[in-house]
Amino acid sequence: MVAQVIDGKAFAAKLRAQVAEQVATLKEAHGITPGLAVVLVGEDPASQVYVRSKGKQTLEVGMNSYEHKLDASTSEEDLLALIDRLNNDPEVHGILVQLPLPKHLNEDLVINAIDPAKDVDGFHISNVGLLGTGQKSMVPCTPLGCLMMLRDHHGSLSGMDAVVIGRSNIVGKPMAQLLLGDSCTVTIAHSRTKNLAEVVRRADIVVAAVGRPEMVPGDWIKPGATVIDVGINRIERDGKTKLVGDVDYDSCAEVAGAITPVPGGVGPMTIACLLANTLTACTRANNLPEPNGLTA
Ligand code: NAP
Repeated sequence: MVAQVIDGKAFAAKLRAQVAEQVATLKEAHGITPGLAVVLVGEDPASQVYVRSKGKQTLEVGMNSYEHKLDASTSEEDLLALIDRLNNDPEVHGILVQLPLPKHLNEDLVINAIDPAKDVDGFHISNVGLLGTGQKSMVPCTPLGCLMMLRDHHGSLSGMDAVVIGRSNIVGKPMAQLLLGDSCTVTIAHSRTKNLAEVVRRADIVVAAVGRPEMVPGDWIKPGATVIDVGINRIERDGKTKLVGDVDYDSCAEVAGAITPVPGGVGPMTIACLLANTLTACTRANNLPEPNGLTA
């Protein structure tokens, strides 16, 4: 079997177009423009690239983008004061604090200072609790993108066996909650899981979010299973830098029914879902009907 490639790049472009269309309608019908504020503390090169890309795509869908770049030595007090201002700014519907923060800042404290209704990353404890109890919440962007691609590919996920490898707060755990919400039978595997190969082999859906280059080989995959590769790992091969996922693409693609590539799979969906979340937050803030198909 040769797996069908799930084209995240094309899916993300479609999603951004949907967002842009609904932003235009919001402006025309209600005179409202959704606004996303991104806060970057310090000069981490990868974070700078992400923030630039987020700002550019925000403008491209017709939203307002507000970038706040703070010095690496910014105090917690000053950062919290900025978040307070953004919480109270009616032009700002979504707030994202780019992680990781410099060591002297308490990430939990900072994230939990964001108004949960504007927490477009879905990391605030209120949103985590709402998602866990099946209530309306802001859903973390990367797992939301994975869920959208899975629903698009399968239609219903009900009754499927899903294995999520990785239990981080930003990917693994919310991914498992979303799959459970769609009535999958969910296993969360991690570094202490025994017989990981056997656990993965029973899955109809495998989501790998580990951060280990090409860790999952094809012989762990049940024939016909769907493989979602969240991993983004930079490796050196043949003297060149290459981006690879957490699954060994070539061997998994020989066995799987469908697979996301790296790059061009989960990655592009993450920012598209951030824009979708900002639009959702804006409609909720204005007591308007929520956009269709843009959240869990
Ligand atoms: P993380 O916080 O480092 O979590 C990694 C998880 O993998 C942990 O739960 C860890 O288990 C588990 N793990 C580590 N080694 C393992 C092993 N040998 N067997 C089984 N499980 C193992 O990473 P993350 O933030 O979730 O990110 C995971 C990957 O996704 C990274 O490559 C990251 O770059 C990528 N990512 C991509 C996007 C995107 O937009 N596409 C977004 C976020 C992250 P323990 O808990 O037991 O330590």
